[in-house]
Amino acid sequence: MRRFFVEEIIDQNGLCSIKGTEAKHIAKVLRMRPGDHFVLMDNNGRRFQAVIDSVNPREVIAKLEKSLPNPPTSPIEIILCQALLKSAAMDYIIQKASELGVESILPFSSIRSVSRPEAERVENRVRHWREIARSSAKQSGRHIPAKIASIFDFEELMETWKGIDACKVIFWEDEGSKDLKGILRSVKTIKKFVGVVGPEGGFEKDEVKSAMDAGFITVSLGNRILRSETAAVAFAAIVQYELGDLVLL
Ligand code: SAH
Repeated sequence: MRRFFVEEIIDQNGLCSIKGTEAKHIAKVLRMRPGDHFVLMDNNGRRFQAVIDSVNPREVIAKLEKSLPNPPTSPIEIILCQALLKSAAMDYIIQKASELGVESILPFSSIRSVSRPEAERVENRVRHWREIARSSAKQSGRHIPAKIASIFDFEELMETWKGIDACKVIFWEDEGSKDLKGILRSVKTIKKFVGVVGPEGGFEKDEVKSAMDAGFITVSLGNRILRSETAAVAFAAIVQYELGDLVLL
């Protein structure tokens, strides 16, 4: 059954109004008609089975038939701290991490990362990433879109993690003794797993030290050098598989 997102489902005597791009998509692209059923979701995680009452490209009125149970949330909260990459690679990571159930993505600029956009453009970039997260949630049937934070400075981001109780790893291709497999074998019941992935040019030694000072463990993903976007997706898939919901719950 098709799924559509609204910011917030407002129940007006059992009816809900859908406007904007979703209404246009329903009416003009999908040419759905009164009587057609679909799932309506909102950013608060509410989900209803709904049926079209009336439809035109400006507004669709949906009759809320029944509230749907929340799908089981993953037993692990995965957080990806991602160095800024060129826009296509960032879009790719946001979409794939969303599909893989990453809870939130914290973009950061670092010494060797793609430079941080000008202040007035940051908002546009973050809005664009949030739109990707929302459409990926719709496509994958994810309950609540991945949260996308605004752009941090790396050192500032490490500061925010100081003292936070979670399994915190920084992926470092020069790490010679600890790997992700070993970490996953050693952690017992953890609820929050934070992974930091660097830019194409990698991390400076001082940055790795800042991460370690903030409680991050340097971890290898094996002997091959992965592209940043590959490392991010591999991290999300492996942790979700080992500790999360890449299984039938
Ligand atoms: N400096 C590297 C390129 C960095 S790869 C080079 O020598 O070419 C981009 C990012 O992906 C890294 O900062 C790291 O976070 C992650 N990464 C890539 N391969 C990795 C590996 N084998 N182990 C751990 N992290 C890796």
